[in-house]
Order: sequence, then structure tokens, then C-alpha cells
Amino acid sequence: MLLGCIADDFTGATDLANTLVRQGMSTVVLLGVPSGRVPEADAVIVALKSRSIPAADAVRLSLSALDFLKRGGARQYYFKYCSTFDSTDAGNIGPVADALLAALGEPFAIACPAFPTNKRTIYQGNLFVDEQPLAESSMRDHPLNPMTDSSLVRVLQRQTQGKVGLIPYSVVEQGAAAIQVEIKKLMAAGVRHAIVDAINDQHLLAIGAACADMKLLTGGSGLALGLPDNFRTQNLLKTGTANALPKIGGHALVLSGSCSAATQRQVAALQRECESYALDALALSRDPATVGKAVEWARPRLGKQPVLIYSTAAPKQIAEVQSSLGRERAGTMVENAMGEIAKELVAAGARRLVIAGGETSGAVVTALGISGLRVGPEIDPGVPWTASIDAEPVALALKSGNFGGDDFFAKAFKALEPQANRI
Ligand code: ADP
Repeated sequence: MLLGCIADDFTGATDLANTLVRQGMSTVVLLGVPSGRVPEADAVIVALKSRSIPAADAVRLSLSALDFLKRGGARQYYFKYCSTFDSTDAGNIGPVADALLAALGEPFAIACPAFPTNKRTIYQGNLFVDEQPLAESSMRDHPLNPMTDSSLVRVLQRQTQGKVGLIPYSVVEQGAAAIQVEIKKLMAAGVRHAIVDAINDQHLLAIGAACADMKLLTGGSGLALGLPDNFRTQNLLKTGTANALPKIGGHALVLSGSCSAATQRQVAALQRECESYALDALALSRDPATVGKAVEWARPRLGKQPVLIYSTAAPKQIAEVQSSLGRERAGTMVENAMGEIAKELVAAGARRLVIAGGETSGAVVTALGISGLRVGPEIDPGVPWTASIDAEPVALALKSGNFGGDDFFAKAFKALEPQANRI
């Protein structure tokens, strides 16, 4: 392993994985603090759920993840948090970064959540979301970690006893060598964390190059853009194999629990091409046999052509279900049902699964008891195929609601074919 990463949530982990794979590093995402064998990959990302838990718990989990990654002999470590720097004065970015530095015996780390592609930029230490300063963006009203100060230097300073400094735009613009000089200066002045300005990808590439020899980096997934090249120039990366997945045959299945507009169009498009079954959310609450009925419908139809089971519905229908069952109860019930259906149909031979919906994907991955995912080729921007790393691998495409074009499902299965044949 070259790069050992700790991500403070699951989607952040997959986002980072996607960036690394596209830049040529084979990458595995592990779900939760792992205990088993360290997987073979250029980068291993431990996905935690540590963003909004008490700081002491986040530190404990992150240190356990670090121990595991150290066992894999990582040359460099990366603490990935949100590009909007989601945190409170109690943490968890500062306390976790401090603990990782202490455990690695290092005095200094940069902090750079910039992600210009998604319009997260940093100038003079201030984070901008789209065109707005962080504290004037919708993050101001975030239910768990309202961000009411745009200055990341101040935000991070409130979370750490160490001194927080800034590597400003004027330095970053000059490139990697200038950034390295500035880092030395800051370290000599006793700075422990430095927010780094970045307003475009060139800046992120320069920062990555400047930090080739740093033991720990902290930031969003954008910062990862510049790291693979550091390993490539040392001839440590194989070419052309970063997104290789094992050949996975078996039946094709689409489970759609997302109700977003893009998914509704995708479900409609797939319905024209394959058999489909509507999972009735109200029936789930009334009839305990509802899941079994869906499974019995699908089982004899499983094969090379996908079958579709969906709870995807228009806003009016959702509103009816939610007013009858409550929003949360309805959501959990449908998610659990999708998880149960996935488990039954994988037992019946389904091996190529496309799951639509972020929460739905989480429920399915948990129900299947998956410990980690190797990241493969992208189907549409931000949605790669993955393969579980468990004994009998399952191919999974986990799509958040609004991602993907209208033909996403058909495109996904087509994308898997040449990949499967190549390995
Ligand atoms: P997205 O990525 O589009 O937000 P998610 O899976 O994260 O999709 O969220 C969709 C939520 O809606 C889930 O909690 C799911 O269980 C719930 N849901 C799905 N279908 C229905 C339905 N027919 N009625 C009520 N809730 C539903």
C-alpha cells in the first residue's frame, strides 16, 4: 500500500476513491475499522462514520484505522473530510488531525478541503461554496454542524491547541517549490496545521507535488488529485490496471429506492427494456409477506438481463406514504426491505447489482455484510462499478439519487461486460 486514507464518512470515501482510481491508483474502500487482512491496492481507504460523533470517539476510531493502515506499510496517510469543512468547535477535524500527527510522530500537516470542480475554493483562508463565503452559504443552517465562520484558519484554530497558519494564494500560485519553502517557514514558526489556499486544479496539483514527502495530509477529495503523480514518478504505480475488477458473472439486478428526478427517469427507461416490480411502501407496513412476494417474483426471472425492483415513486405518492407512516418510518422500512431483497436474491445467484439511492445503497451494503469494495471503472461521472472484496465477490454500482444519465442502468451493465472480459 502506498497511500493509507481515513475518511470521516462513506460517500466521502467513495469520492476520494474515485479520484485516486481515475488518477491511476488501484483503490479499496473498507467499511468501518477493519480487523482482517490488509487488501492489495495502491490506496486503502477506511470509511468511518466519524464526522458528527463525539470527538473522543472520532479520535479513537481514526487511531484504530491508522494502526490498520500502518500494518499495511502505507508510505503516506490522508485524513479525508468534507469539502465544506463540516465540523464544530469541539471537532472533529482538529482533534483527529492532532491525534494522527501525534501517533505518526509528525509536527505538521496541511489542511486543504478545496474542491474547485465542485466549486469549493479557498482564498486567504476563507472557504467559498459556489460564489458565496461558507458562512453565507446553505452550510450556515446545516442541522449537525452549522458553519458560521468562513475563515478556516479561525475555524480550525478553535479545534486545536496547536498553532494554525495559512499558505496563501500568492505562494500557491508560484508552484510546488514555493509552497515547500513556505511550509518550512511555518514549521520553524511552530505552526502545526496550515490551511492552504486553492482556487483551481492547478493549485491542487502543485500542493500535491509539494507534499510528496509529508507523512500526513488532511483535506477534501480534491487534494488527492496531485498525489498519484508523486508515486508515478517513483515508478511505484502499474499502468492501465488501476480500475481493474475481478471477472464477475451471475445474474443482473437493479434495486431502486431513490425517488429523485433523475432516478425516476432512469427507472422509466429501464422499464421499457426489462421486467420490473413495484415495491409498495404501504403494503410493507401492512403485510409482512410483501418482501417475500417481491423475492418470489424476481427469483425465476433472474438471469443475464436485469430485473428491476423499485419503490421509486412520484412526490405525490411519497407524500401519501409519509403522511400515513411518517417520513422516517417509511424510509427505514423501504431501506430494510431493499436490504432483505438484495440478500435473498444474492443468495439466489444475483452478482451484478445496481442500487439507486444513497441511503438505499447503505442499507444494501450493510444487509449483504460487505466488508470492503474495490473501485472499478466509472459508468457516469461520480458513479463507478465496484466489486466487494469478500470471498464471493459481488459487483455493485451504488448510485446517489441525482447522478447518472437517463440510460444509466443499461449503460452500467454494458460497461461491466468488456471489463469482465478483460481480466
Ligand atoms: P437519494 O440518493 O435519491 O436521496 P436515498 O436512498 O438516499 O435516495 O433516499 C430515498 C429514501 O426514500 C430512502 O429512505 C427510501 O427508503 C425512501 N423511499 C423510497 N421509496 C419510497 C416510497 N415509495 N415511499 C416512501 N419512502 C420511500
